[in-house]
Amino acid sequence: MSTILIAGTSRGIGLGLVSEYLERGWQVIATVRSEPPPDLRALERTGRLKIERLEMTDRGQIASLAQRLAGTQLDILFVNAGILLARNDPIAQVSDEDFARILVTNALSPLRVVEALAPHVAPAGTIVVMTSGLGSVALNTSGGTEAYRASKAALNTLARSYAARDPKRTVVAMGPGWVKTDMGGPGAVLDVATSVRGIADTLAKAAGKGGSHFLKYNGETVPW
Ligand code: NDP
Repeated sequence: MSTILIAGTSRGIGLGLVSEYLERGWQVIATVRSEPPPDLRALERTGRLKIERLEMTDRGQIASLAQRLAGTQLDILFVNAGILLARNDPIAQVSDEDFARILVTNALSPLRVVEALAPHVAPAGTIVVMTSGLGSVALNTSGGTEAYRASKAALNTLARSYAARDPKRTVVAMGPGWVKTDMGGPGAVLDVATSVRGIADTLAKAAGKGGSHFLKYNGETVPW
């Protein structure tokens, strides 16, 4: 049975990914940073879901999760968690606190999780970080959502740097599309089920390729 660890599964796309991989017959380790919500708890009835605690910005919690994974081999490590701050502020109006918080949460912490948990990923396994099309430097012709864009561009750069040091594993920066969640809002174009189905299909095709890839949920390659 294949095993995936998904970080950030209390709601939104992360919760949808847990459900999708359980439906596909996988063993799922799902992390939350506070009390697991009923929708996630309900999925424990499958007998293939293990819920773990992880506040991604807490290095001690990352280290203890790595210890608790002793003896577990992951086929996919998927760091999904992320935040959106200062959505409408041009960059000069973003406070130091918000800029630091979004960079630490969206870029530094995911790679700390990757570095700490990579020893538990199968030698030809896949490491995924949830980025955004807004993280593409090449596609940024409109500006806007600037602190968030910068954090996802930093995440992409750090993921590529990691991949250069770990070329056998496949490293994917995944763009989920614009999805109806607390972050995406009700006006988004995709429902969670469509996004996560596409993400799982895309990761199945990328498995074993090695190197770094910036992919969208529908399998398209995104320019870095
Ligand atoms: P939500 O805001 O609905 O959910 C965010 C998830 O991340 C929650 O489970 C939240 O946990 C968790 N989280 C946030 N900060 C931390 C932290 N420090 N430690 C642990 N968990 C944390 O977002 P989405 O589901 O929409 O987004 C998921 C990912 O997809 C994010 O990385 C986002 O940037 C990305 N994305 C989303 C898009 C969209 O349209 N929705 C578009 C492009 C990218 P808690 O409930 O405890 O706060």
